[in-house]
Amino acid sequence: DKDRIRMKDKSDHATTENVLDSRIKNKLHKLFEKGILAEINGCISTGKEANVYYAKSKNKAEIAIKIYRTSILTFKNREKYIRGEYRFDHVHSLSNPRKMVKVWAEKEFSNLKRLEQGGVRAPRPILSGGHLLLMEFLGSDGWAAPKLKDAVLTDSKSRILYRECIEIMWKMYNKCRLVHADLSEYNMLYHNGSIIVIDVSQAVDRDHCNAMEFLRNDCNNITAFFKKYDVGVMSLQALFDFITDPTINENNMDEYLDICIEKENENKDSQQQEIEDAIFKQAYIPQRLTQVINVERDINLAKSGQDLIYKTLIGLKADLSKPAEKPEILANKHKTAS
Ligand code: ADP
Ligand code: MG
Repeated sequence: DKDRIRMKDKSDHATTENVLDSRIKNKLHKLFEKGILAEINGCISTGKEANVYYAKSKNKAEIAIKIYRTSILTFKNREKYIRGEYRFDHVHSLSNPRKMVKVWAEKEFSNLKRLEQGGVRAPRPILSGGHLLLMEFLGSDGWAAPKLKDAVLTDSKSRILYRECIEIMWKMYNKCRLVHADLSEYNMLYHNGSIIVIDVSQAVDRDHCNAMEFLRNDCNNITAFFKKYDVGVMSLQALFDFITDPTINENNMDEYLDICIEKENENKDSQQQEIEDAIFKQAYIPQRLTQVINVERDINLAKSGQDLIYKTLIGLKADLSKPAEKPEILANKHKTAS
């Protein structure tokens, strides 16, 4: 017990001391010399893993500076977000907290770039170096935009934002090839009536070995949040399928969601949905066909009409007979119409 207390003291000490250690001061000094920074005007947030400061450049552009902590304790459980994808194959030592923070800042920078390129609203990244990341500040008159959890929303607005949010998740996965991996009302800002995605240091490439698990968890967080506003949300599996179905594109997305949300809401009581969601949370989701444990058994199950959790994800028709060309509910709809 004595040891535990000593450990805790040490880590507390380490965090306060390390946030503005001399390396960071040097780095900031250089940015002032270059005019990239002209003033730092206080702290926007002191989080568990980083502090965010409000600053201005020489030409008065508003900037958010995120300074990561080097506390070893917080970095211990981050390895799983870095290991398991090709972008960080070159990173060998994750035990050195200083190097680790550098990787972390670079990772957030590169993920913000991907969001920008894929057309997802997020702070525009400016630069990352050492322990810090400079990005566009989002807010008005120097006040940071509120987190989605603190936004005051009407019922109709929250319905619109639910739809916006799941379309953002689709875009992240399909246009940016990213899974956020910590998506919740805490890591989205509400700015000018829209959602802004932030805090993407832990976001992973969709080929990361745990990507599906992270995505399922994101789906769960989002669903739980919007349920509180009484939004008629999709089931977890329907949301997961929507994001991962390779036959959905920007042309058929609106029609798909209209049908899907309506269908989900008309023939299900909420208790049944709770049960289905609980089952989906426990299910094993193979990411590739090679990870399917018993292919023959699954094909037989599919033939007898059972729904397989991974068929949409790998782009197969419900009976696993051949690649799907369009989303199942749209295919069925057009069949009955003709
Ligand atoms: P943490 O790892 O501490 O959660 P975040 O990236 O979520 O770090 O940032 C912490 C907080 O700082 C956010 O919840 C938000 O309030 C504020 N913040 C972060 N980035 C910006 C930004 N670009 N513009 C305005 N506020 C921001
Ligand atoms: Mg955060």
